[in-house]
Amino acid sequence: MRNPDVKIVGVVGDPISHSLSPRLHSYWLKKYNILGDYVPFHIAKNELPGFINSLKGDNITGINLTVPHKESAMKLVDEVDASAKKIGAVNTIYFDNKNRIIGSNTDGHGFLKNLRNSTKSWRADNCPTVIIGAGGAARAAIVSLLDVGVPEIKLINRTQERAVCLLQEIDDNRIRVIPWGGREDALSGVKLLVNATTLGMVSQPALELCLDKLPKDATVYDIIYNPIETELIKQARERGNKTVDGLGMLLHQAAVGFKAWFGVDPEVDDGIRNHLLEVLR
Ligand code: NAP
Repeated sequence: MRNPDVKIVGVVGDPISHSLSPRLHSYWLKKYNILGDYVPFHIAKNELPGFINSLKGDNITGINLTVPHKESAMKLVDEVDASAKKIGAVNTIYFDNKNRIIGSNTDGHGFLKNLRNSTKSWRADNCPTVIIGAGGAARAAIVSLLDVGVPEIKLINRTQERAVCLLQEIDDNRIRVIPWGGREDALSGVKLLVNATTLGMVSQPALELCLDKLPKDATVYDIIYNPIETELIKQARERGNKTVDGLGMLLHQAAVGFKAWFGVDPEVDDGIRNHLLEVLR
């Protein structure tokens, strides 16, 4: 059973060595003088059911899940909360007071909080949006933006069928799927452009997107954080658009888990941001 004096939390993924979460949470554990540890677990897809099953007997306070486990964990926990249900994926596990495993999702919260913190005058009701990507991160972004009242989302993905499936699952008439080839025309008249693909990430090609049709008052939000300045962010910054990088999303989604496990609401400030920037490109 869990020993409340020493709290062990970890992140589960495959691969896992690249994860910034141990560095991030260890910083907060030290800052708030909490007796605990945050460790990486390299768990393959077929090992996940056994791993989650073993959590109840282990001295583990909680878990983060990353690629490729977020969707499959939905069926392995005792209960999924409203955030995980809406997003269709679990990125945070904690235990309730009956020792039941609860699956939650904090990515949507992190996405939105970062957007709001970075663009103080941002208003959802005045924000037609283009989202590029239709994977788990795109879904978290879409659900959170619809929740706060964006009037329109143009959803664009290389594999159009995946975008259509996402639209059918979310089932909201504010979403319109646009073909990949129409992504530059789709920028006309929008106030927010989100890159939720892996394009632009370290060791991945850049997202090829001419921004000529994007209004100058639009915000460009790239949820990638490594590198901190993607080609897309650089291009947007140079033409005068407001830009938002993905590091704030990572920090704000992590803060919710930290509070659930350790009871402290950690500050998302320059200290933690700089601590992570030291190891990013
Ligand atoms: P995912 O479910 O695997 O989805 C990947 C997306 O990228 C899909 O839309 C895929 O399109 C697209 N894509 C991949 N290669 C492409 C290519 N060559 N050309 C065009 N599109 C391509 O991944 P995810 O979990 O959504 O994560 C997406 C990104 O978000 C990752 O870089 C991840 O690190 C980042 N992320 C950041 C945070 C944060 O806290 N900042 C949180 C979660 C995720 P297809 O459907 O056509 O394959």
